[in-house]
Amino acid sequence: MKNPLLVLTPEDIGSSAREFISVYGSYMREVAIVGKRASGYATYASRTAPVEQEHTQMFEEWLDLSSKLKVKTVVAMDFYTDRWFAKDPKYQTISAKGQAVPHQICPNREEFWQYGAEIVKEIGSYPVDEILVFGTGFIRDRFCFCERCRQEFAPRVGQEPERLSYEFLVENPDHHQTWHDWRVDKVTQGIAQLQAAAREADDVVERSEPLRLTIEVPIDPQMGLLEGAKNENGLDPSRIFDVTKSVIINLYPWTPVLPRKGTPEYDHLMEALYFVKEFKRRGGTVTLYRWGVSVPEKLDEVWAIARDAEIDRVAVSFRFPEDYAARRESALGDV
Ligand SMILES: [Zn+2]
Repeated sequence: MKNPLLVLTPEDIGSSAREFISVYGSYMREVAIVGKRASGYATYASRTAPVEQEHTQMFEEWLDLSSKLKVKTVVAMDFYTDRWFAKDPKYQTISAKGQAVPHQICPNREEFWQYGAEIVKEIGSYPVDEILVFGTGFIRDRFCFCERCRQEFAPRVGQEPERLSYEFLVENPDHHQTWHDWRVDKVTQGIAQLQAAAREADDVVERSEPLRLTIEVPIDPQMGLLEGAKNENGLDPSRIFDVTKSVIINLYPWTPVLPRKGTPEYDHLMEALYFVKEFKRRGGTVTLYRWGVSVPEKLDEVWAIARDAEIDRVAVSFRFPEDYAARRESALGDV
């Protein structure tokens, strides 16, 4: 069995990256460190995002050591999940019920794409091979009903912006489809802006291989698996392929138990992951990710699913995101 890509927070590594690598370095071929958290804070010396000063030295030491050890260096960042930026209510995404979400940015905010692009450029100025970009989509189908999204979308379905409701959309399959397509466009445009920033960063550091952006696609049975990723989150792997050619499937982010082989649920998951073959055949890369994998048996389960779905790379984090409960509530709760 191959080693997984570990996605580590500064807390996982502890105060000294040097010590961590001296213990684990010989087993590792690639390691990811979190560079921008769901809190919106950067763990590196950002000039754009607020910074956790206590971690910046370790971040640099870490990247420096891993490039010396020829370990592939990966940085993880949260994109629209950004509690610091979302302190400004102007940027918060808003549910169909009018509830503002204080940890998630509306994906229809070009200023925020530019902000994210600056962060990609900053991370790309380090000797980094890949950035894992988490949280680039909408929370779910009932988002976003902010002022700007209403104004822009309502005319497309012949509705007044202030009268646009979720019920109005779901009553009419054509309107609902227009809603889904429009949201996929918004998310894809945001990702394209990050990708352009990655290319700019390549020129600055003269990277031998282009900096790869790997985009999170959540696949969860409670959200409708692959159809859910497209229609709930606005994340369509075939559209992402055209931009970055690399996705990281967040396996069952809201569902604690993975399905057992031989069950209908397992078969449904395999059907949902069928796109992987096509994605790879066209030259893309796919990573299977699971968060909160703290014991080896859980890792075995993820590898077994990866093998059946013909996915060659597995990534895991030891912990759940620090704001997991709040995120799960906005993904599944009554909002
Ligand atoms: Zn919006």
